[in-house]
Amino acid sequence: MLILLDADHSREQLAVVVARVESLGYKAHVIPGATGTAVGITGNSGALDPRDFEVLGGVKQAIPVTKPYKLAGRDFQHADTVVQIAPGLAIGAGRFIVMAGPCAVESREQTLRIARSVKAAGAHVLRGGAFKPRTTPYAFQGLGEEGLKILAEARAETGLPVVTEAIDPASLELVYKYADIVQIGARSMQNFSLLREAGKLDKPVLLKRGLSATVDEWLQSAEYLLAEGNQRIILCERGIRTFSSHTRNTLDLNAVPVVQKLSHLPVMVDPSHGTGLRDKVVPLARAAAAVGAHGVIIEVHDRPEEALCDGPQAMPPEDFAALVETLRRMGGVLGYTL
Ligand code: PEP
Ligand code: MN
Repeated sequence: MLILLDADHSREQLAVVVARVESLGYKAHVIPGATGTAVGITGNSGALDPRDFEVLGGVKQAIPVTKPYKLAGRDFQHADTVVQIAPGLAIGAGRFIVMAGPCAVESREQTLRIARSVKAAGAHVLRGGAFKPRTTPYAFQGLGEEGLKILAEARAETGLPVVTEAIDPASLELVYKYADIVQIGARSMQNFSLLREAGKLDKPVLLKRGLSATVDEWLQSAEYLLAEGNQRIILCERGIRTFSSHTRNTLDLNAVPVVQKLSHLPVMVDPSHGTGLRDKVVPLARAAAAVGAHGVIIEVHDRPEEALCDGPQAMPPEDFAALVETLRRMGGVLGYTL
């Protein structure tokens, strides 16, 4: 339910509406907007009666919201969310954001080398996994806290904010301590207890789409984060499972405009995991910009044949630099800056 208030409602009337919602055992979210204040209700399991709220002073209308997600949807918030990452760096505010780095932090030298190269190429954010959710327990699982310390050193040297994945509550606590953006990976998109914990943090969360998740399921996962109070959520399309086997995944670029219509949250694209093949990353990164994504996250490795994770999709730094230049020039036509 979304309660729209009269333009000239008083603070007391707003307080009465909030108190009524809370007295029923629900959560009230006061949403200031360009066209007036609204109060969103979450926490109800069944339909609410609009008349229970329309009788209150200062209420213009109460509109039932039937979607399974509310805070993530445009009904609750029409204006696009801009997620502040660092001073002077935001996602969703007319800039195309490039996050780049290795799949995994493998060593101090490897991470610093790649961090310097992506910085020189114009990347805005450094990526790199310290906790790797691997399909087989025998594959490299990441350096853990040691890897986070290396990322923090790379940030100190390059000035690039860091995005890195948390896979469980213990790693979430560590990632929160060292990183600027907490990544929730595709395999964890429906780890609801992890989402709840990440929703309590005061740092942005990059929420990847699950391997076989529908857009509605993805937005309901975002809802878990938002419902806990974290407003700084960035969605990331990273390819889904389909019958098509010529690439690792099928990058669902349809999802970008679909999500942008349904939700106010910014949406990025990961053409590296979306294709799994380095020669497909450039065309799909261009396509991501063309379709209107707010940015891309790209895996870069200067020795891909030695990479401990996802070597076949890692781009060499020179190719990455050329791609950033192309994306920058595309902004002239598409209306963004990089
Ligand atoms: C990653 O970004 O390294 C990663 C594991 O991505 P995903 O969760 O999309 O597979
Ligand atoms: Mn990877």
